[in-house]
Amino acid sequence: MNPGYELPQDEAAYSFGFLDEYAKREVRRCILKAISIPGYQTPYASREMPMGRGFGTGGLQVTLSLIGPDDSLKVIDQGADDSVNAVNLRQFVELTCPGVDTTERTQEATLIQSRHRIPETPLTEDQVLVLQVPYPDPLVVVEPSEARRKVMHGEGDYARLLTKLYEDIVQFDEITISHRYPTRINGHYVIDPSPIPRYDVPQLHQSKALVLLGAGREKKIYAVPPYTKAEPLVFDDVPFRVEDFRDADGQRRACARCGSTSSFLDEIIQSDGHGGDHKTWQCSDSDYCDQQLAAHASPTEMRA
Ligand SMILES: [Zn+2]
Repeated sequence: MNPGYELPQDEAAYSFGFLDEYAKREVRRCILKAISIPGYQTPYASREMPMGRGFGTGGLQVTLSLIGPDDSLKVIDQGADDSVNAVNLRQFVELTCPGVDTTERTQEATLIQSRHRIPETPLTEDQVLVLQVPYPDPLVVVEPSEARRKVMHGEGDYARLLTKLYEDIVQFDEITISHRYPTRINGHYVIDPSPIPRYDVPQLHQSKALVLLGAGREKKIYAVPPYTKAEPLVFDDVPFRVEDFRDADGQRRACARCGSTSSFLDEIIQSDGHGGDHKTWQCSDSDYCDQQLAAHASPTEMRA
């Protein structure tokens, strides 16, 4: 998007938040329904947005329907505020929602739109997290017909999904799903929690913040309301495991930048300049990493 572009001054031509009021009302009604039936995939009339499907149009429509002039918005992609997708979505909101503040600090945001991560800093009751979803239905891997999937969801019939997980255990000795781990909400509907890593799934459980998931291409909105059970699908004798980032000696790896040993790490491969590569690990959540760095830096380092 051209950052120099400005909307026409004729205010009647565009409404606040790009979507017209009727579209926003419809999305809000669907959000209320999604909150009332935790985990249920509520269909909605996903609008055409001035960007391609798959670039977060579902999350964006949820955000634009909820955002008001007093909100402070944070947009992240894979934990980073400065990646291309996040920067473009943030610019679009700044352009179409005059007066709205944007921030990179998790604590300062009232509304957080994210792709692939839940922020490391625990969220509060005053915050809403919007996750961008490419594939909303976890049953799609075992049942191609949407009509049949709806019946299976209604009956809470996840036997075929459990069989798939069981096959993983037989073949690989563990469940190999790294992202989009099927998670049961409030004891009934199983959702695809969007491509967040396994590490983030426990954060959905009894979350203080409202979590809304929007799929633009598939035209579905679903929700994990505050203080709701969110349980990854497991077997009694095979507990759910998150990524532990241990090295060959069993030591928990630390972030090469801030030294944190409790955050989700990205593996970064750097060339050593002699034809070889070496790996380092760094926090995936860039705001968390900055804050850890600032907290541990001595006053002289801070001034430098
Ligand atoms: Zn870090």
